[in-house]
Amino acid sequence: MKTIIKTIKTIKIDPLKCTGCRACEMACSTFHAKPQFRIVNPTRSRIRVFWDEENDVYIPILAGEYTQAECNSRYIITMNKKEYGECSFCRSSCPSRDLFKEPDSGIALKCDVCGEPMPEGGPMCVQWCASGALTYAPERTEEIELAEEEVEEGVEEL
Ligand code: SF4
Ligand code: SF4
Repeated sequence: MKTIIKTIKTIKIDPLKCTGCRACEMACSTFHAKPQFRIVNPTRSRIRVFWDEENDVYIPILAGEYTQAECNSRYIITMNKKEYGECSFCRSSCPSRDLFKEPDSGIALKCDVCGEPMPEGGPMCVQWCASGALTYAPERTEEIELAEEEVEEGVEEL
């Protein structure tokens, strides 16, 4: 086992401030486009805005890890007396749905917090969110223990 220090980067989401403008989706997709900034295609975005049409609520979701497993225990989620469908808030791409997958290749998409070095001014989706629904929390570090083969790029050893 190795003790390492990992840098934690966090984007906070306040759904109550989200207007559903989807500027975050456009910003993320064009930042990750090749060549960069040439194409705007929200289906390639690592943040997607879920719209609860019935209740007129918008909830931004950041893409997390890919999982090969499909859930076998799906539930209706109730929040503030509103009901939401099974996969509505899931951050994973998985075999069950197309969300957070590259549309041409099917490769899973994951938020990399805009990579290293981070763009001047912070993550692109945060910069483009005029309503303040997305905010970038100050970076923090955390000590964790990993098996040697698990040490990842971007993790600094003690
Ligand atoms: S840019 Fe901000 S307000 Fe617009 S959809 Fe994204 S999170 Fe919501
Ligand atoms: S932090 Fe960067 S990679 Fe992550 S969703 Fe926002 S724009 Fe996309």
